[in-house]
Amino acid sequence: MKLSETFIKTLREAPKDEIAKNGALLSRAGYIHKEMAGVYDFLPLGLMVLEKIKAVIREELNKIGGQEVMLSALQNPELWEKTGRFSDQEVDIWFKTELSSGGVVGLAPTHEEPITNLMKTYISSYKDLPLAVYQFQTKFRNEKRAKSGILRGREFLMKDMYSFHATEEDLDRYYAEVEKAYDRIYARLGLTETYKTFASGGIFAKYSHEYQTFLPVGEDTIYYNSDKSVVVNKEVFNEEVLKDLGVENEAFTETAAAEVGNIFKLKYKYSEPLGLQFNDENNEQKTVYMGCYGIGVSRVMGVIAEKFADEKGLCWPETVAPFKAQLIGIGEKGTAEAEKFYATHEETVLFDDRNLRPGEKFADAELMGMPYRIVISDKTLAEGAAEVTARKTGESKMITIDKLAEIL
Ligand code: ATP
Ligand code: MG
Repeated sequence: MKLSETFIKTLREAPKDEIAKNGALLSRAGYIHKEMAGVYDFLPLGLMVLEKIKAVIREELNKIGGQEVMLSALQNPELWEKTGRFSDQEVDIWFKTELSSGGVVGLAPTHEEPITNLMKTYISSYKDLPLAVYQFQTKFRNEKRAKSGILRGREFLMKDMYSFHATEEDLDRYYAEVEKAYDRIYARLGLTETYKTFASGGIFAKYSHEYQTFLPVGEDTIYYNSDKSVVVNKEVFNEEVLKDLGVENEAFTETAAAEVGNIFKLKYKYSEPLGLQFNDENNEQKTVYMGCYGIGVSRVMGVIAEKFADEKGLCWPETVAPFKAQLIGIGEKGTAEAEKFYATHEETVLFDDRNLRPGEKFADAELMGMPYRIVISDKTLAEGAAEVTARKTGESKMITIDKLAEIL
């Protein structure tokens, strides 16, 4: 991509009311645009990051048999009334609106009810099980506080997967598969300090886990033991839980974290009230066991932005960076050589061909955060080379033009 051909502009100032670092940096670097509190637009570079995160998740979920779908955002209240979740007393984050033809619809904050109902059409026998479906979908939640940039949106992108099983053992088996897939996903996304925690959430605590990434501005507080084999959310951190986990005599450290995903053994929670049943081998009607598994895709992008940024700007891990390198040509020969290199690497290189001073381009490259900056100038060409600087370490080295493609 050539910067001169895009509408992307870096900004000197973040929006005035943007207090979160991720929101401020992503706005200034031209990845997102703020509509209002908790509501953001994703610009070309921002969308590329989201798509890269989605690609990693999609690949890992397909490996464990997930089938991708996309459910509607508009929700029929009748379904949610069956589980008691349409009332504002039960779920206080609904956006609801009236139909011009009469009646009310809601904008989906999550999708357990519709997916359970949908499966009544397709699951009737034990032969239809097990089954796992997932989607990437915009969720709507009327969150009270939305001051954390894209970490907490009123409209945000979630990956939600739902699994359906004939037996509890099979649900347990699949749950363990998802745990492994989640470990691979967070590792590939560069979020190595992500731990499976014993979750908050009342009676469901025993059947659910959260994935928490260490992050100073994260909204959650977690406790971890010395080898981080036991990580517990503050909300459930007490003597009884520690005893249950067999670690009551260990020392724990407190830290802030952001919840980047969670997994639940729902069992009959939705299948029973919504009547999702199947015929087993003995022709007996049984209720389907369910699990559900979320990842906050846009939050993950915000967490990555926050976590790796430094005083100069963003610093993307290679797997999610929109481009591998930002290319700058200086002087007549340098620019011509940069142009030539770019012509064969349009997919992986962001070419800053704008009519700006090199210093401004350097500052923008640091703000935008591609893993490498490539500078080709008359000076580097005297050595038949380009100067390649790693964004993360700031280390530079000269690489001859014929070997340059190897870093991409
Ligand atoms: P939280 O405790 O942060 O509100 P939650 O328990 O409501 O999260 P879920 O409903 O299970 O979370 O959603 C699945 C995932 O979606 C979460 O783990 C989180 O990463 C992400 N998520 C939840 N709410 C938001 C939001 N308002 N904005 C962005 N991401 C969110
Ligand atoms: Mg929530």
